Amino acid sequence: MPYRAPVSDYEFMLRHVVGFDRVSGTERYSEASSDVVSAILNEAGKMCEEVMAPLQRNGDLNPARLENGVVRTSPGFAEGWKAIAEGGWIGISAPEEHGGMGLPVTLLTSVNEMMSSACLSLELAPLMSMGQIEALEHHASDDIKDLYLPKLISGEWSGTMNLTEPQAGSDVGALSTKAEPLDDGTYAITGQKIYISWGDNDFTENVCHLVLARLPDGVAGTKGISLFLVPKNIPDENGAPGVANQLKVVSLEHKMGLHGSPTCVMQYDGAKGWLIGKENGGMAAMFTMMNNARLGVGGQGVGSGEGAYQHALAYAMERKQGRTAEGSSGTIAEHADVRRMLMTMKAELFAARAIILSCAVAIDMQNATGEADWAARAALLTPIAKAFGTDTGIDVSEMGVQVHGGMGFIEETGAAQYYRDSRVTAIYEGTNGIQAMDLVARKMMDGGEAAMHLLDEIETQAEQAKATFPDMADAVWQAAETLREATEWLNGQSDMNDRFAGAVPYLRGFARVLGAHFHLSAALAEPGSARETLAQFYITCLLPEHGGLLAHAQAGAKDLYEMSLEDLVA
Ligand SMILES: Cc1cc2nc3c(=O)[nH]c(=O)nc-3n(C[C@H](O)[C@H](O)[C@H](O)COP(=O)(O)OP(=O)(O)OC[C@H]3O[C@@H](n4cnc5c(N)ncnc54)[C@H](O)[C@@H]3O)c2cc1C
Repeated sequence: MPYRAPVSDYEFMLRHVVGFDRVSGTERYSEASSDVVSAILNEAGKMCEEVMAPLQRNGDLNPARLENGVVRTSPGFAEGWKAIAEGGWIGISAPEEHGGMGLPVTLLTSVNEMMSSACLSLELAPLMSMGQIEALEHHASDDIKDLYLPKLISGEWSGTMNLTEPQAGSDVGALSTKAEPLDDGTYAITGQKIYISWGDNDFTENVCHLVLARLPDGVAGTKGISLFLVPKNIPDENGAPGVANQLKVVSLEHKMGLHGSPTCVMQYDGAKGWLIGKENGGMAAMFTMMNNARLGVGGQGVGSGEGAYQHALAYAMERKQGRTAEGSSGTIAEHADVRRMLMTMKAELFAARAIILSCAVAIDMQNATGEADWAARAALLTPIAKAFGTDTGIDVSEMGVQVHGGMGFIEETGAAQYYRDSRVTAIYEGTNGIQAMDLVARKMMDGGEAAMHLLDEIETQAEQAKATFPDMADAVWQAAETLREATEWLNGQSDMNDRFAGAVPYLRGFARVLGAHFHLSAALAEPGSARETLAQFYITCLLPEHGGLLAHAQAGAKDLYEMSLEDLVA
C-alpha cells in the first residue's frame, strides 16, 4: 500500500488546532505564510511518497552491513539521502546565513513526521544531523560554525550523537570516555561508545560525531562532562575532508527492527576533537541537541504510526471475511471491532500529533519572542511529546498488526515492520520512563505553574465550547480538573520516589487530557464534520482512561517497595 502524505491534515491542524498563526505572526517567522507552509508540506510530502516510501522494505530486508570497517547502507538509501539533502529538508529550520531555510520548528517537525511514515530508518539520519546543527549553532565557535554548518545543512556531511557507553545508558554521568588537551588547542578523545545511530555511511563525504567525554580534571557525574566535535576525516586547510581521524566502527548491532539504520559500536583511539561550548559544560550543550531530538523522536512515533494506520486501513478495506451483525458480507472494515481499532488508531494519531505540534509551536514562540512563558510551555510539553508520541506509534502499529489478522504476523505485508521499527522510539533519546520522571521532577520545579497555566487554557476553551458541545466540553473540563488535582498532589510530595512511582501514568493521563482538548478544538473548527465524530469518539471512549491513570499517579511508592524483590521472584 503506497504511503500518502496527509498534507491537508497538517494544514488543518496548524490552522485550527495548534495556533500556528501566532508563529507566522511574529517578525522572525513572518515568511512562514500559509502559501509557504503549503508549498513546503506538499513538496516534502511528494518526496516522502515517491522517494522514501519505496525504500522502507529495502532497509528491512537488506540491513546496513559492515564491510572492512566501512558501513554499506541498504539499497537506495544513498539516493534517498540525496533527495532529502537536495530538497533542503535537513536545513528547514537551520540558519539562513549557513544555507538553511530559517523556517519554524513546527514545519520541520511536520516534515520529519512525514519522512518517518515513509521510511523511519532513513529518516533517523537527517534527524541526527538536524540535532547536531542546532547544537553547533548555539554552542560552537564561529570558525567551527563556518566550516561545519554549511556542509551539514547541505547534506555533504552528516552528524551523529555519542552519549551511550556500556555502563552509561540512562545514567549518562557514568561515562568514562576521556579527553586529553593537546598543545594545538584540540583534544585527544579515547573511549568506546555503543548504539550510535548512523555512526557511519557510504553516502556522505564526512561523518561528524558529537561526543561526550571527560577532561582529566572533570569531576564524576554529569558536571564533569564536556562535548567534542570529532570528525571521521579531519578537514584540511581548505575545509575538505583530509586525513582519517583515529576512530572506527567496531561492529553493528543486530536489532529487532530499524534494520536500515546502522547502529554502531564506535571506538575512539586518541581521535582529534574540538571542544563545543565550555569545558565541563557538555551536558548543557548536549541538551540542545537532545531536546531537539526528543521532539523529533516523538514525531518518529506518530509518523510510523501514520504509516501503520494507512497500511491497516487499506488492508481492512480489501479483506473480506464474515458477516456483520446486520448480515451483510463486506470487508472486515465493516465489522464493529475492526472499526473500533481503525477509529482508535486515527483518534490517537490526531491527539499525539497535536501534542507534538503544539510543543513545536511553543519552541518557535520561545525562539521568536524570548518570552519565559513560552520556554516553560516548551519544556513542559517536550517529555509528553516524546513519550506519548512514541507510545502512540507503538500502540497504533501493534493495532495495525491485529487489523491484518494472521497476515499481520507474516512479514511480507509489512505491517509487522512498523511495529518492530517503532519499538525503539520509546527506548532511545531517554526512555519513556526517564521522560516521565523529567516531567514530574525538573518540569515541576516551578511548583506546577506551567502545567496550571495550560490547564487554565484548557478549561477556558471547554467553558467556551459548552454552548456548542455541552457533553464533550463538560467531559474535557472535568478531566482537566482531575489533572489539576493530580498535579497538586504530585507537587505536594517531598519524597521524590512517590512522584516517580506514578510518573508514567501521570504523563499518559496528562496526554489524554491534552488530546481531548485538541480534539475539541478540531470539532469546534468544523462542527458536524468527521472531525466532530472523531472528537466524540475520543472523548467518550479514550479520555475516560485518564481517571484510572491519574489515580495510579497518586498511589505513591509504598506498595511498590512493600513487595520485596524476593516476593517478585517467588
Ligand atoms: C537502536 C538504538 C539506537 C540508539 N542510538 C543512539 C545514539 O545515536 N546515540 C546514543 O548516544 N545512544 C543511542 N542509543 C542508546 C539509547 O539512548 C539507550 O539505550 C537508552 O538511553 C537507555 O539506556 P540503556 O539501554 O543503557 O538502558 P538502561 O539505562 O539500563 O535502562 C533499562 C531500564 O531501566 C530504566 N531506568 C534506568 N535508570 C533509571 C532511573 N534512574 N529511574 C528509573 N528507571 C530507570 C529505564 O527506563 C529502562 O526501562 C540507541 C539505542 C538503540 C537501541
